[in-house]
Formats: sequence, C-alpha cells, structure tokens
Amino acid sequence: MTRKKIVAGNWKMNLQLNDAIQLIDEIVDNSKDLSAVELMVFPPALFLLEIAKIKNQLTVGTQNFYPKESGAFTGEISITQIKKCGASHVLIGHSERREIFHESEELIKQKVDAAISHEIGIVFCCGEPLHIRENETQSSYVKQQLIDSLFHLSDAEIQTCVIAYEPIWAIGTGRTASVDEAEEMHCAIRSWITEFYSSEIANSISILYGGSCNASNAKELFSCQNVDGGLIGGASLQAESFITIARSF
Ligand code: PEP
Repeated sequence: MTRKKIVAGNWKMNLQLNDAIQLIDEIVDNSKDLSAVELMVFPPALFLLEIAKIKNQLTVGTQNFYPKESGAFTGEISITQIKKCGASHVLIGHSERREIFHESEELIKQKVDAAISHEIGIVFCCGEPLHIRENETQSSYVKQQLIDSLFHLSDAEIQTCVIAYEPIWAIGTGRTASVDEAEEMHCAIRSWITEFYSSEIANSISILYGGSCNASNAKELFSCQNVDGGLIGGASLQAESFITIARSF
C-alpha cells in the first residue's frame, strides 16, 4: 500500500499577517506541480481566515484549540470556530503544548475526541525528552503517549489521523535524529498500530518525522521506509526551504 506523503509546516508564534500572506502565496505558486505530496500549513490561528482564502491546493490547520463547544473559556478558540474559518486539520500533542502549557494526556485525549467528532484531521505529535532517550526508554515512553491519548480510537477513526514523531531534543535545536534513530522509532510506531489495530491499518497511516528537519537533511530522512514526510518548524518559514523539503522524496 502506498501511504500519503505529507510535508507540514508549523509556523508556531511567528510572522506578521503580511509575512504570512507572502509566504503562503510563494508556497502556492511554487508547489503547483507537487501533486504527489500533501502540503499542510499550521499558521497562527489569527491568520486563518486570510490564509484559507488563498490556500489553493494546500491543507490548512491550526496549532491549537480548546475541546469545548462554547462558553466561559477566556482566550480559547473552539473547534467549530476554527473549522468555520477554514481549518481542516489540527496539531494535537505538540511537545511545546505539553511542556510549556502543561497539557495532560487527558486533555490531549479530549482534543483527539473533539477533532474526531467534528471530522477535523489530526496530526498527533509524540516524542521523548532528552533524559528519556539517554536512559534508552524512548520506546515505552512514546508507546504510552499513543496508548494514553490516541489508541482508544476505532479502526475507522485512527485511519483519519497522521502521527508525527518528534523527539523533543531535536525540536528547534539543530540536532536532528539520525536516519537509524528515526527509522527505528517509526518502525516501532507502525508495529504498535499493528498490535492495537491491524497491519493493514498500520500500513495506511502516514508517520512524519519532526525535529530540525531542513532542506539539507530531508532527503536522507525521507528515504527511510517508514518515514512518510515531515513536520517542519523553523525551515517552514521560508518558501524556498519548505518547497525544497517537499521535493525531497
Ligand atoms: C516542530 O516544532 O514541530 C518542529 C519540528 O520544529 P523544528 O523543525 O524547528 O525543529
């Protein structure tokens, strides 16, 4: 089975509206022939309406939402609000949300359920901190993250998800996982999907690598059998490097 190739840009809390519009224009213009790769962008939610207007063939999502329909949740945005402003996907479980904003496995699971019930695509992020990698317990750590917040989904539901393996020690640090480290974890994630679901489902789910992936190392990482693309932070902020990454399969 051929899995979808995906390159997703997480713009985090970067850019002003005019920069974001220029970036999306450049990405749209330079990716028209890239039909074999799905390009996703996750701009700051405030820019969603403008970005959605000019997204063309790109998939647009948000980096966050709060899993309640409406009400007294000052400062939060609901999934219906983001959906109506043009988001079809959400990032859930990003390490910056887990670490800086103390998102628990339970909240992450609630977000997964809210996204599923609103038919919003999920890019589910998992990955271990440095001390876990140094203890060599990264496999059980990442497996537990998946069990806690994702593997309760049904067969049909899990197949709508994308998983992004992002070792925290590689995010924004310039230290990328080696090809062997990436392939080993991606292969393990696929084996756990087989354990909880089936090999057919495991072979249908795209697993992205994230963590200092850039225009120079993407080709090597994407050559791994179980790496189906990347979730890109810093290198997604310039159209040229983002498009070079998207052309690295
Ligand atoms: C990310 O935050 O998802 C990410 C992968 O960031 P960077 O590419 O900058 O390491």
